Amino acid sequence: MTEPTATVDTTAARRLDGNAAAGMLAELFAVDVTTARSRCASCGTTSMLGAHHLYADAPALVLRCPDCTDVVLRYAVQEGRILLDLRGAQLLTVPAPAATDESNGA
Ligand SMILES: [Zn+2]
Repeated sequence: MTEPTATVDTTAARRLDGNAAAGMLAELFAVDVTTARSRCASCGTTSMLGAHHLYADAPALVLRCPDCTDVVLRYAVQEGRILLDLRGAQLLTVPAPAATDESNGA
């Protein structure tokens, strides 16, 4: 019989249930995401989400890149669940609440 390696034991000890991320993620999604900056996965352009093209009449809310028009974000509510598809965003940058206060001069 093979003993488990130390790497496996260390990884298992560090691993948490995904629910433990709730506090951090709540901080992210509690901000006004229209001020978030998104880098388009297709063309690499970075722009504020509020500057993207919105198509709200599709089955899902769709934000498209203002430069190349590829889909950056899809959002839908189905059967009591929120679905968020960010595969078109290479990187989403959201100011932390403290950083927002500093940028506003408060
Ligand atoms: Zn683009």
